[in-house]
Amino acid sequence: MKRNRDRSAQLAAGRATLQARKIAAHEAALLCGRVKVNASLLKPDNSYSTPDYVLRGYYLDRPFTCKDCGAAQVWRDTQQKWWYETARGGVWTMATRCRSCRRREQARVAEARRVSLEGREKKKNIK
Ligand SMILES: [Zn+2]
Repeated sequence: MKRNRDRSAQLAAGRATLQARKIAAHEAALLCGRVKVNASLLKPDNSYSTPDYVLRGYYLDRPFTCKDCGAAQVWRDTQQKWWYETARGGVWTMATRCRSCRRREQARVAEARRVSLEGREKKKNIK
């Protein structure tokens, strides 16, 4: 009788191990070739909800339309990883401009900043 109980416990443990291995293999297959999310590198956010890419565990290419020129664009998974984890952009932000419009916008903002600072310097010198 005791031997029977040991045997069924062994079988149950074996089934649990097999199940765990199956789940691990399934998860590995899902992540195969994916750009994984490292949630510990994301910019802290006080939102109660979690972005879809964090729940999913990996980034997916996201199509978008450039807000300046209207060109159809794709924000690549690798670009998203860089933006969220290296540049530490807000976790809810998303690409809005194509590369050339982004460059143009950066130049416009830099020029506006330069003019503004120049104006403030002139004001200071008048006083
Ligand atoms: Zn554009």
